[in-house]
Amino acid sequence: MRYISTRGDQTERRFCDILLEGLAPDGGLYLPTHYPQVDDATLTRWRGLAYADLAFEILSLYIDDIPAEDLRAITRRTYTEAVFGTPEITPLKTLEPGLALQALSNGPTLAFKDMAMQLLGQLFEYELGRRGQTLNILGATSGDTGSAAEYAMRGKAGVNVFMLSPHGRMSPFQQAQMFSLQDANIHNIAIEGVFDDCQDIVKAVSNDLEFKRKYQIGTVNSINWARLLAQVVYYFAGYFQATTSNTERVSFTVPSGNFGNVCAGHVARMMGLPIAQLVVATNENDVLDEFFRTGVYRVRGSAETHETSSPSMDISKASNFERFVFDLLGRDGARTKALFGEAIAREGRFQISAGEHAEIARYGFQSGRSSHADRLATIRSTHARYGVVVDTHTADGLKVAQERREPGVTMLVLETALPVKFAATIEEALGTAPPRPAGLEHIESLPKRVVVMPVDVAGVQRFIEAHV
Ligand SMILES: *Cc1c(COP(=O)(O)O)cnc(C)c1O
Repeated sequence: MRYISTRGDQTERRFCDILLEGLAPDGGLYLPTHYPQVDDATLTRWRGLAYADLAFEILSLYIDDIPAEDLRAITRRTYTEAVFGTPEITPLKTLEPGLALQALSNGPTLAFKDMAMQLLGQLFEYELGRRGQTLNILGATSGDTGSAAEYAMRGKAGVNVFMLSPHGRMSPFQQAQMFSLQDANIHNIAIEGVFDDCQDIVKAVSNDLEFKRKYQIGTVNSINWARLLAQVVYYFAGYFQATTSNTERVSFTVPSGNFGNVCAGHVARMMGLPIAQLVVATNENDVLDEFFRTGVYRVRGSAETHETSSPSMDISKASNFERFVFDLLGRDGARTKALFGEAIAREGRFQISAGEHAEIARYGFQSGRSSHADRLATIRSTHARYGVVVDTHTADGLKVAQERREPGVTMLVLETALPVKFAATIEEALGTAPPRPAGLEHIESLPKRVVVMPVDVAGVQRFIEAHV
C-alpha cells in the first residue's frame, strides 16, 4: 500500500514514512491510494477473530513495510484484556433491541483516544528502535489527547513527551491522570495561560526549524494516519458483535469533533463493511452538522467556539474533515486544495455544489446536534430507562442517534468516554457522582509531577534542551 496527499501531491509514500510525520509537504493529509475491499468470505473469516488478530488483519492491508510477525506481535501487545478491561476490548452494551453502546473508553485514560494511541506508542517504539532514532513529542492538551499520549508513550524506549496544558484549567481528575505519572520520559508543563497559549507555543517551537531538527521534535496529533487506521478496527468489531450474518447492516452514531473517529468509520464503509448510516453528532460547536445539512463548511474563530459540557468536541475546525471531502470530490486533489488550502485560508469558508451535496447520501453520512439541555435530558433518560450512566459526549451521540434510527437496522452509539471524567455535569443531571472505576478512587491525592511555567517559548525550549 502507498499513501498520497489530499492536495494533489502524488508522491507515493509507505506507511512507516508517514508514521512519524504530520501533514504532507503540500499541506494535505495522507490517504491510501485506494481502499482494500473485503468480500463476504473475508468477513466470515474475520468474524471469529480476537480483537488483536482482527487488528492485525486490517492493519496488514495497509502496512507492507513491517514484517507480518512483527506487526502481529505489536497488535497482540497492544490490545490486551489487561489494558482494556475485557476480552472483547470494545464490548457492546445493549440498551434495547436495535440500540447499543459500543464501549471505546475502557483503556487507561477512560476515553476512546486510547484505542489508537496505545497502538501508536507500540509502533513508535518499534520504528524508532529499527532506525536507531529518538523522538521528542511536543503537544498541547486541554484534556483527553494529552493524557492518552502520555499513557501510550510512558516508559517507551526512544520517546520523550513534553505536554503543555493550561495551568489550573483541566478538571481535577484530568490533572490527576496526567500529573500522577512518574515515568522519567513524561514531562508535564502547566502553562500560566489558556489552551490557545499552549497551542501557540507548540507552533512556535515547531516553526523553529533548527531547534526542531536538532531536538527531533514531533507530534501525535489527530491527523496522523496510523491513529485513524487503528480506529477502523473497532467498526468491524462492533459490526461482528451486533450481527450474526454479513447480510445485515448496522449504523453508527459518532460523537464528533475533529472528525477522526467517524472518518475511520468512513474508511471501514469504503472497504465494504455493511454500514447503513454514519451519523455525525456534534455539540453546540456544530461546524460539521452545518456542512452535512447545507454543504457550507465554515470554520469558526475562538470567539465563536463555545466552551461546553462535552469539551472534547469543542472545535472550531475539524482537522480530519479534508480526508472525507477528498473522497466526496472524486479524489480531485486540485479541487481539495482550492477549498482547504485557498478558500478556507482566504474566507474561512467554502460551499460545495448542490450535485456534490447530493452525493453525501451515497457515503451514508447523516448528522445532528445536541445542546447542554439535551445532554442533561439524555443522561437522565438513559439512566432512568436503562440504568446506565453515560458521559456527556456519549449523551450527545445518543440524543442524535434516537433521531436517526431506522426500523430493522441496529444503531451502535460509540461511547467515547466514561462519565467519571466529566463528573460535574453528571452530578448536575443525576444529583449523584458517577461511579469510579476500581483503582482510581484516590487518584487526586497521588503525588504530582508537573512544572508550572509562564507563556514563554524560549523557556519551554530551555526545558526541552535540559530534559532530552
Ligand atoms: C476526542 C474526543 C471526541 C471527538 O473525536 P474526533 O475524532 O475528534 O471527532 C469525542 N469524545 C471524546 C470523549 C473525545 O475524547
